[in-house]
Amino acid sequence: MAVRKIKTVYDVVCPFCGTLCDDLEVDVVDNKITEVRNGCQIGTKKFFASNPSEHRYKTPLIKVNGSFKEASWDEALDKAADILVKAKRPLLYGFSSTECEAQSKGVELAEILGAILDNTASVCHGPTILAEQDVGVPTSTLGEYKNRADLVIFWGCNPVHAHPRHLSRYSEFVRGYFRKDGRNDRFIVVIDPRNTHTAQIADLFIQVNPSEDYGLLNAIRAILRGVELDEKEVAGVSMENIKELADKVKSCNFGVIFFGMGLTQSLAHHRNIDAAICLTRELNDHTKFLITPMRGHYNVTGANQVFTWITGYPFSIDFSRGYPRYNPGEFSSVELLLKDQVDASLMVSTDPASNFPAASVKNMFKHPLIAIEPHETPTSVNADIILPPAYAGIECEGTAYRMDSIPLRLRKVKDAPNGLLTDREILERLIEKVKEKKGE
Ligand code: SF4
Repeated sequence: MAVRKIKTVYDVVCPFCGTLCDDLEVDVVDNKITEVRNGCQIGTKKFFASNPSEHRYKTPLIKVNGSFKEASWDEALDKAADILVKAKRPLLYGFSSTECEAQSKGVELAEILGAILDNTASVCHGPTILAEQDVGVPTSTLGEYKNRADLVIFWGCNPVHAHPRHLSRYSEFVRGYFRKDGRNDRFIVVIDPRNTHTAQIADLFIQVNPSEDYGLLNAIRAILRGVELDEKEVAGVSMENIKELADKVKSCNFGVIFFGMGLTQSLAHHRNIDAAICLTRELNDHTKFLITPMRGHYNVTGANQVFTWITGYPFSIDFSRGYPRYNPGEFSSVELLLKDQVDASLMVSTDPASNFPAASVKNMFKHPLIAIEPHETPTSVNADIILPPAYAGIECEGTAYRMDSIPLRLRKVKDAPNGLLTDREILERLIEKVKEKKGE
Protein backbone atom coordinates (compact mmCIF):
# COMPACT_ATOMS: atom_id res chain seq x y z
CA MET A 1 0.00 0.00 0.00
CA ALA A 2 1.39 3.42 -0.98
CA VAL A 3 2.15 5.71 1.97
CA ARG A 4 0.57 9.13 1.51
CA LYS A 5 2.98 11.99 2.09
CA ILE A 6 1.89 14.59 4.63
CA LYS A 7 3.18 18.12 4.10
CA THR A 8 2.99 20.26 7.25
CA VAL A 9 3.10 24.04 6.94
CA TYR A 10 3.96 25.92 10.15
CA ASP A 11 3.29 29.49 11.31
CA VAL A 12 0.30 29.82 9.02
CA VAL A 13 -1.76 33.00 9.38
CA CYS A 14 -5.49 32.35 9.70
CA PRO A 15 -7.41 34.33 7.06
CA PHE A 16 -10.71 34.54 8.87
CA CYS A 17 -11.03 37.23 11.55
CA GLY A 18 -9.08 40.37 12.40
CA THR A 19 -7.10 38.58 15.12
CA LEU A 20 -4.98 37.07 12.30
CA CYS A 21 -3.58 34.27 14.51
CA ASP A 22 -0.18 33.41 13.05
CA ASP A 23 0.60 30.12 14.77
CA LEU A 24 -1.51 27.61 12.86
CA GLU A 25 -0.09 24.30 11.64
CA VAL A 26 -1.73 22.83 8.58
CA ASP A 27 -1.32 19.29 7.23
CA VAL A 28 -1.81 18.79 3.49
CA VAL A 29 -2.08 15.42 1.74
CA ASP A 30 -2.43 15.25 -2.05
CA ASN A 31 -3.22 18.99 -2.14
CA LYS A 32 -6.06 18.53 0.38
CA ILE A 33 -6.08 19.97 3.89
CA THR A 34 -6.42 17.10 6.34
CA GLU A 35 -5.61 18.70 9.69
CA VAL A 36 -5.46 22.20 11.17
CA ARG A 37 -3.86 22.64 14.59
CA ASN A 38 -4.14 25.69 16.91
CA GLY A 39 -7.00 27.30 14.96
CA CYS A 40 -10.39 27.99 16.52
CA GLN A 41 -13.48 26.33 15.10
CA ILE A 42 -14.42 29.11 12.68
CA GLY A 43 -10.89 29.61 11.38
CA THR A 44 -10.31 25.87 10.95
CA LYS A 45 -13.56 25.54 9.03
CA LYS A 46 -12.36 28.04 6.44
CA PHE A 47 -9.27 25.94 5.72
CA PHE A 48 -11.40 22.83 5.17
CA ALA A 49 -13.85 24.85 3.01
CA SER A 50 -11.01 25.39 0.54
CA ASN A 51 -10.91 21.65 -0.24
CA PRO A 52 -12.83 20.75 -3.42
CA SER A 53 -16.54 20.27 -2.69
CA GLU A 54 -19.88 20.63 -4.42
CA HIS A 55 -20.10 24.21 -3.03
CA ARG A 56 -16.78 25.36 -4.44
CA TYR A 57 -16.75 26.82 -7.97
CA LYS A 58 -14.31 25.13 -10.31
CA THR A 59 -14.49 27.34 -13.40
CA PRO A 60 -15.88 30.76 -14.33
CA LEU A 61 -19.65 30.72 -14.85
CA ILE A 62 -21.94 32.89 -16.94
CA LYS A 63 -25.70 32.98 -16.45
CA VAL A 64 -27.61 32.19 -19.64
CA ASN A 65 -31.44 32.12 -19.55
CA GLY A 66 -31.44 31.84 -15.77
CA SER A 67 -28.90 29.04 -15.38
CA PHE A 68 -25.15 29.01 -15.10
CA LYS A 69 -22.97 27.66 -17.87
CA GLU A 70 -19.25 27.05 -17.65
CA ALA A 71 -17.08 29.56 -19.48
CA SER A 72 -13.42 30.10 -20.22
CA TRP A 73 -11.59 32.77 -18.24
CA ASP A 74 -11.28 34.89 -21.36
CA GLU A 75 -14.99 34.70 -22.15
CA ALA A 76 -16.09 35.43 -18.55
CA LEU A 77 -13.62 38.28 -18.07
CA ASP A 78 -14.59 39.79 -21.42
CA LYS A 79 -18.27 39.76 -20.50
CA ALA A 80 -17.53 41.16 -17.03
CA ALA A 81 -15.46 43.98 -18.54
CA ASP A 82 -18.28 44.71 -20.98
CA ILE A 83 -20.78 45.10 -18.13
CA LEU A 84 -18.49 47.39 -16.17
CA VAL A 85 -17.54 49.60 -19.13
CA LYS A 86 -21.17 50.03 -20.21
CA ALA A 87 -22.38 50.89 -16.69
CA LYS A 88 -22.86 54.58 -15.86
CA ARG A 89 -22.35 54.14 -12.11
CA PRO A 90 -20.71 50.80 -11.30
CA LEU A 91 -20.03 49.78 -7.71
CA LEU A 92 -16.94 47.83 -6.63
CA TYR A 93 -17.51 46.50 -3.11
CA GLY A 94 -16.04 44.03 -0.62
CA PHE A 95 -12.23 43.66 -0.52
CA SER A 96 -12.03 42.86 3.22
CA SER A 97 -11.42 39.12 2.78
CA THR A 98 -8.62 39.32 0.29
CA GLU A 99 -4.99 40.34 0.33
CA CYS A 100 -3.67 43.91 0.07
CA GLU A 101 -2.18 43.30 -3.38
CA ALA A 102 -5.67 42.52 -4.76
CA GLN A 103 -7.13 45.51 -2.93
CA SER A 104 -4.72 47.85 -4.71
CA LYS A 105 -5.81 46.40 -8.07
CA GLY A 106 -9.42 47.08 -7.05
CA VAL A 107 -8.56 50.74 -6.55
CA GLU A 108 -6.89 50.87 -9.98
CA LEU A 109 -9.94 49.31 -11.65
CA ALA A 110 -12.33 51.70 -9.88
CA GLU A 111 -10.30 54.69 -11.01
CA ILE A 112 -10.24 53.54 -14.65
CA LEU A 113 -14.00 52.91 -14.57
CA GLY A 114 -14.90 56.10 -12.68
CA ALA A 115 -16.70 53.79 -10.26
CA ILE A 116 -17.80 53.84 -6.64
CA LEU A 117 -15.25 51.99 -4.51
CA ASP A 118 -16.25 50.73 -1.10
CA ASN A 119 -15.26 48.10 1.43
CA THR A 120 -17.09 46.44 4.30
CA ALA A 121 -15.98 49.13 6.76
CA SER A 122 -18.95 51.11 5.48
CA VAL A 123 -21.22 48.67 7.34
CA CYS A 124 -18.98 47.85 10.34
CA HIS A 125 -16.17 50.07 11.65
CA GLY A 126 -16.61 53.02 9.27
CA PRO A 127 -17.75 55.09 12.30
CA THR A 128 -14.49 54.14 14.05
CA ILE A 129 -12.47 55.63 11.21
CA LEU A 130 -14.63 58.77 11.13
CA ALA A 131 -14.11 59.21 14.88
CA GLU A 132 -10.34 58.65 14.58
CA GLN A 133 -10.25 61.29 11.85
CA ASP A 134 -12.15 63.63 14.22
CA VAL A 135 -10.24 63.19 17.47
CA GLY A 136 -7.21 60.93 16.84
CA VAL A 137 -6.69 57.67 18.73
CA PRO A 138 -4.46 56.53 21.60
CA THR A 139 -3.79 52.93 20.61
CA SER A 140 -1.17 50.19 20.59
CA THR A 141 -0.51 46.62 19.50
CA LEU A 142 -2.11 43.41 20.72
CA GLY A 143 1.34 42.35 21.97
CA GLU A 144 1.50 45.37 24.30
CA TYR A 145 -1.95 44.55 25.70
CA LYS A 146 -0.97 40.93 26.23
CA ASN A 147 2.15 41.88 28.16
CA ARG A 148 0.87 44.87 30.13
CA ALA A 149 -2.90 45.20 30.43
CA ASP A 150 -4.37 44.47 33.86
CA LEU A 151 -7.81 45.84 33.02
CA VAL A 152 -9.59 44.89 29.81
CA ILE A 153 -12.96 46.28 28.75
CA PHE A 154 -14.94 44.60 25.97
CA TRP A 155 -17.55 47.12 24.92
CA GLY A 156 -20.24 46.07 22.42
CA CYS A 157 -18.32 43.01 21.25
CA ASN A 158 -18.47 39.28 21.92
CA PRO A 159 -15.04 37.79 21.19
CA VAL A 160 -15.99 34.35 22.56
CA HIS A 161 -17.93 33.95 19.33
CA ALA A 162 -16.50 36.50 16.88
CA HIS A 163 -12.75 36.41 17.70
CA PRO A 164 -12.38 33.21 19.76
CA ARG A 165 -8.59 33.16 20.14
CA HIS A 166 -8.29 36.87 20.94
CA LEU A 167 -8.93 35.91 24.57
CA SER A 168 -6.33 33.17 24.74
CA ARG A 169 -3.67 34.96 22.69
CA TYR A 170 -3.94 38.58 23.79
CA SER A 171 -6.56 39.70 26.23
CA GLU A 172 -7.81 37.29 28.85
CA PHE A 173 -6.23 33.93 29.70
CA VAL A 174 -2.79 34.46 28.18
CA ARG A 175 0.30 35.00 30.34
CA GLY A 176 2.13 38.23 29.49
CA TYR A 177 5.59 39.55 30.35
CA PHE A 178 4.17 41.67 33.19
CA ARG A 179 1.04 39.53 33.62
CA LYS A 180 2.65 36.26 34.56
CA ASP A 181 -0.47 34.85 36.20
CA GLY A 182 -2.60 35.22 33.06
CA ARG A 183 -6.31 35.47 33.82
CA ASN A 184 -5.69 36.10 37.55
CA ASP A 185 -3.66 39.19 36.66
CA ARG A 186 -6.45 40.79 34.65
CA PHE A 187 -9.78 42.33 35.58
CA ILE A 188 -12.26 41.85 32.75
CA VAL A 189 -15.23 44.17 32.21
CA VAL A 190 -17.95 43.59 29.61
CA ILE A 191 -20.36 46.39 28.70
CA ASP A 192 -23.17 45.19 26.48
CA PRO A 193 -26.98 45.17 26.30
CA ARG A 194 -26.90 41.36 26.13
CA ASN A 195 -25.60 38.87 28.66
CA THR A 196 -23.23 37.34 26.11
CA HIS A 197 -20.88 34.40 26.60
CA THR A 198 -18.05 36.93 26.96
CA ALA A 199 -20.08 38.70 29.67
CA GLN A 200 -20.44 35.38 31.47
CA ILE A 201 -16.67 35.04 31.92
CA ALA A 202 -16.14 38.67 32.96
CA ASP A 203 -15.38 39.95 36.46
CA LEU A 204 -17.84 42.81 35.98
CA PHE A 205 -20.74 42.87 33.55
CA ILE A 206 -22.48 46.17 32.96
CA GLN A 207 -25.77 45.83 31.13
CA VAL A 208 -26.35 49.06 29.23
CA ASN A 209 -29.65 49.89 27.52
CA PRO A 210 -29.51 49.30 23.75
CA SER A 211 -28.22 52.36 21.85
CA GLU A 212 -27.58 54.35 25.06
CA ASP A 213 -23.80 53.79 25.20
CA TYR A 214 -23.15 57.45 24.41
CA GLY A 215 -24.84 58.52 27.64
CA LEU A 216 -22.92 55.96 29.68
CA LEU A 217 -19.57 56.95 28.16
CA ASN A 218 -20.17 60.60 28.99
CA ALA A 219 -21.42 59.79 32.48
CA ILE A 220 -18.11 58.01 33.19
CA ARG A 221 -16.22 61.00 31.77
CA ALA A 222 -18.18 63.37 34.00
CA ILE A 223 -17.52 61.29 37.13
CA LEU A 224 -13.81 61.12 36.30
CA ARG A 225 -13.82 64.92 36.27
CA GLY A 226 -15.42 64.99 39.70
CA VAL A 227 -18.90 66.01 38.55
CA GLU A 228 -21.74 64.80 40.82
CA LEU A 229 -24.56 63.73 38.51
CA ASP A 230 -28.06 64.37 39.78
CA GLU A 231 -29.34 61.03 38.39
CA LYS A 232 -30.09 57.63 39.88
CA GLU A 233 -29.07 55.83 36.71
CA VAL A 234 -27.75 56.53 33.21
CA ALA A 235 -28.48 54.26 30.22
CA GLY A 236 -30.00 51.68 32.55
CA VAL A 237 -26.85 51.50 34.73
CA SER A 238 -27.10 52.57 38.38
CA MET A 239 -24.94 55.48 39.48
CA GLU A 240 -23.34 53.12 42.01
CA ASN A 241 -22.17 50.80 39.20
CA ILE A 242 -20.92 53.70 37.11
CA LYS A 243 -18.88 54.98 40.07
CA GLU A 244 -17.52 51.49 40.70
CA LEU A 245 -16.44 51.28 37.05
CA ALA A 246 -14.90 54.78 37.17
CA ASP A 247 -12.87 53.73 40.24
CA LYS A 248 -11.72 50.54 38.52
CA VAL A 249 -10.55 52.23 35.33
CA LYS A 250 -8.77 54.99 37.26
CA SER A 251 -6.90 52.65 39.54
CA CYS A 252 -5.57 50.06 37.07
CA ASN A 253 -1.95 50.12 35.86
CA PHE A 254 -2.68 49.66 32.17
CA GLY A 255 -6.17 49.49 30.69
CA VAL A 256 -7.56 48.88 27.25
CA ILE A 257 -10.99 49.19 25.66
CA PHE A 258 -11.76 46.72 22.86
CA PHE A 259 -14.97 47.72 21.13
CA GLY A 260 -17.12 46.20 18.44
CA MET A 261 -20.12 46.84 16.28
CA GLY A 262 -22.35 47.11 19.34
CA LEU A 263 -20.76 50.55 19.69
CA THR A 264 -20.15 51.50 16.05
CA GLN A 265 -23.57 50.50 14.75
CA SER A 266 -25.83 51.59 17.62
CA LEU A 267 -27.65 54.91 17.28
CA ALA A 268 -24.92 57.48 17.93
CA HIS A 269 -22.49 55.68 15.55
CA HIS A 270 -19.21 57.63 15.27
CA ARG A 271 -20.20 59.89 18.18
CA ASN A 272 -20.03 56.79 20.40
CA ILE A 273 -16.47 56.21 19.26
CA ASP A 274 -15.59 59.91 19.63
CA ALA A 275 -16.75 59.65 23.25
CA ALA A 276 -14.94 56.33 23.85
CA ILE A 277 -11.69 57.75 22.45
CA CYS A 278 -12.06 60.93 24.53
CA LEU A 279 -12.72 58.81 27.64
CA THR A 280 -9.56 56.81 26.88
CA ARG A 281 -7.53 59.97 26.39
CA GLU A 282 -8.83 61.49 29.63
CA LEU A 283 -8.04 58.30 31.55
CA ASN A 284 -4.39 58.92 30.75
CA ASP A 285 -4.53 61.75 33.33
CA HIS A 286 -4.86 58.96 35.91
CA THR A 287 -3.13 55.89 34.44
CA LYS A 288 -2.18 54.33 31.09
CA PHE A 289 -5.20 53.59 28.88
CA LEU A 290 -5.59 52.68 25.20
CA ILE A 291 -8.32 51.65 22.79
CA THR A 292 -8.53 49.28 19.80
CA PRO A 293 -11.42 48.26 17.54
CA MET A 294 -12.28 44.56 17.17
CA ARG A 295 -12.16 44.39 13.38
CA GLY A 296 -14.14 41.53 11.89
CA HIS A 297 -13.01 40.43 8.41
CA TYR A 298 -9.40 39.39 8.47
CA ASN A 299 -8.16 42.15 6.18
CA VAL A 300 -10.73 44.92 6.51
CA THR A 301 -8.00 46.95 8.23
CA GLY A 302 -5.82 46.33 5.16
CA ALA A 303 -8.62 47.52 2.86
CA ASN A 304 -8.78 50.80 4.78
CA GLN A 305 -4.98 51.12 4.71
CA VAL A 306 -4.59 50.35 1.01
CA PHE A 307 -7.49 52.55 -0.10
CA THR A 308 -6.05 55.38 2.01
CA TRP A 309 -2.48 55.07 0.65
CA ILE A 310 -3.74 55.30 -2.89
CA THR A 311 -6.74 57.64 -2.75
CA GLY A 312 -6.38 59.43 0.57
CA TYR A 313 -9.64 57.89 1.80
CA PRO A 314 -10.43 54.62 3.59
CA PHE A 315 -13.86 53.64 2.18
CA SER A 316 -16.98 55.03 0.40
CA ILE A 317 -15.03 56.65 -2.45
CA ASP A 318 -16.49 58.04 -5.68
CA PHE A 319 -14.30 58.24 -8.82
CA SER A 320 -17.07 59.49 -11.14
CA ARG A 321 -15.37 62.89 -11.59
CA GLY A 322 -12.04 61.27 -12.42
CA TYR A 323 -10.57 61.94 -8.97
CA PRO A 324 -11.45 60.39 -5.60
CA ARG A 325 -14.16 61.99 -3.48
CA TYR A 326 -15.08 60.74 -0.01
CA ASN A 327 -18.45 61.05 1.62
CA PRO A 328 -19.67 58.17 3.78
CA GLY A 329 -23.44 58.07 3.61
CA GLU A 330 -23.57 59.60 0.13
CA PHE A 331 -21.05 57.20 -1.46
CA SER A 332 -21.66 54.17 0.79
CA SER A 333 -22.85 50.99 -0.88
CA VAL A 334 -26.03 50.46 1.14
CA GLU A 335 -27.26 54.03 0.64
CA LEU A 336 -26.47 54.03 -3.10
CA LEU A 337 -28.21 50.69 -3.58
CA LEU A 338 -31.23 51.79 -1.53
CA LYS A 339 -31.60 54.80 -3.83
CA ASP A 340 -31.07 52.54 -6.85
CA GLN A 341 -28.13 54.69 -7.99
CA VAL A 342 -25.92 51.77 -9.03
CA ASP A 343 -26.39 50.10 -12.42
CA ALA A 344 -23.80 47.29 -12.16
CA SER A 345 -21.87 45.74 -9.27
CA LEU A 346 -18.60 43.89 -8.87
CA MET A 347 -18.46 42.09 -5.53
CA VAL A 348 -15.00 40.99 -4.43
CA SER A 349 -14.88 38.25 -1.76
CA THR A 350 -18.03 39.41 -0.05
CA ASP A 351 -21.63 38.41 0.41
CA PRO A 352 -23.77 41.55 0.76
CA ALA A 353 -26.97 39.61 0.02
CA SER A 354 -26.56 38.02 3.47
CA ASN A 355 -26.20 41.22 5.46
CA PHE A 356 -27.35 44.31 3.51
CA PRO A 357 -30.93 45.56 3.99
CA ALA A 358 -33.36 43.62 1.79
CA ALA A 359 -34.39 46.69 -0.24
CA SER A 360 -30.79 47.41 -1.24
CA VAL A 361 -30.16 43.76 -2.17
CA LYS A 362 -33.31 43.79 -4.30
CA ASN A 363 -31.98 46.79 -6.23
CA MET A 364 -28.55 45.18 -6.58
CA PHE A 365 -30.14 42.09 -8.16
CA LYS A 366 -32.06 44.28 -10.68
CA HIS A 367 -28.79 45.17 -12.42
CA PRO A 368 -25.85 43.15 -13.76
CA LEU A 369 -23.86 41.56 -10.95
CA ILE A 370 -20.36 40.06 -11.06
CA ALA A 371 -19.05 38.03 -8.13
CA ILE A 372 -15.41 37.17 -7.47
CA GLU A 373 -16.19 34.41 -5.03
CA PRO A 374 -14.79 30.92 -4.39
CA HIS A 375 -17.98 29.24 -3.20
CA GLU A 376 -21.75 29.45 -3.31
CA THR A 377 -23.27 32.37 -1.40
CA PRO A 378 -26.65 34.12 -1.60
CA THR A 379 -24.85 36.86 -3.61
CA SER A 380 -23.01 34.56 -6.01
CA VAL A 381 -26.05 32.42 -6.90
CA ASN A 382 -27.81 35.62 -8.00
CA ALA A 383 -24.84 36.91 -10.01
CA ASP A 384 -24.63 37.06 -13.79
CA ILE A 385 -20.97 36.17 -13.85
CA ILE A 386 -18.96 34.24 -11.27
CA LEU A 387 -15.18 34.47 -11.31
CA PRO A 388 -13.90 31.89 -8.80
CA PRO A 389 -10.56 32.77 -7.19
CA ALA A 390 -7.96 30.88 -5.19
CA TYR A 391 -8.41 31.37 -1.43
CA ALA A 392 -6.15 34.21 -0.32
CA GLY A 393 -4.01 33.10 2.62
CA ILE A 394 -4.54 29.41 1.86
CA GLU A 395 -3.87 29.04 -1.87
CA CYS A 396 -1.83 32.20 -2.43
CA GLU A 397 0.41 34.50 -0.45
CA GLY A 398 -0.25 38.15 0.24
CA THR A 399 -0.29 40.81 2.93
CA ALA A 400 -3.00 41.38 5.51
CA TYR A 401 -3.36 43.89 8.38
CA ARG A 402 -4.35 42.67 11.82
CA MET A 403 -6.98 44.64 13.78
CA ASP A 404 -4.18 46.68 15.43
CA SER A 405 -2.82 47.67 11.97
CA ILE A 406 0.15 45.28 12.08
CA PRO A 407 0.84 43.86 8.59
CA LEU A 408 1.44 40.11 8.41
CA ARG A 409 2.43 37.93 5.48
CA LEU A 410 -0.20 35.33 4.57
CA ARG A 411 1.15 31.91 3.64
CA LYS A 412 0.23 29.56 0.86
CA VAL A 413 -0.38 26.02 2.08
CA LYS A 414 -1.69 24.35 -1.08
CA ASP A 415 -2.43 24.97 -4.75
CA ALA A 416 -5.81 26.20 -5.94
CA PRO A 417 -7.83 23.52 -7.76
CA ASN A 418 -7.97 23.72 -11.57
CA GLY A 419 -5.27 26.41 -11.54
CA LEU A 420 -7.80 29.04 -10.40
CA LEU A 421 -6.49 32.60 -10.56
CA THR A 422 -5.92 34.69 -7.44
CA ASP A 423 -8.11 37.74 -6.70
CA ARG A 424 -5.20 39.93 -7.75
CA GLU A 425 -4.74 38.11 -11.06
CA ILE A 426 -8.46 38.27 -11.82
CA LEU A 427 -8.54 42.02 -11.18
CA GLU A 428 -5.35 42.54 -13.25
CA ARG A 429 -6.89 40.71 -16.21
CA LEU A 430 -10.12 42.62 -15.77
CA ILE A 431 -8.16 45.89 -15.87
CA GLU A 432 -6.52 44.82 -19.15
CA LYS A 433 -9.91 43.97 -20.67
CA VAL A 434 -11.47 47.22 -19.49
CA LYS A 435 -8.55 49.24 -20.90
CA GLU A 436 -8.90 47.43 -24.26
CA LYS A 437 -12.60 48.22 -24.41
CA LYS A 438 -12.07 51.84 -23.47
CA GLY A 439 -9.29 52.10 -26.08
CA GLU A 440 -6.67 53.05 -23.48
S1 SF4 B 1 -9.46 33.78 16.34
FE1 SF4 B 1 -9.80 34.51 14.24
S2 SF4 B 1 -7.77 34.51 13.28
FE2 SF4 B 1 -7.63 33.25 15.17
S3 SF4 B 1 -7.97 31.13 14.48
FE3 SF4 B 1 -9.98 31.99 15.11
S4 SF4 B 1 -10.88 32.85 13.23
FE4 SF4 B 1 -8.69 32.51 12.85
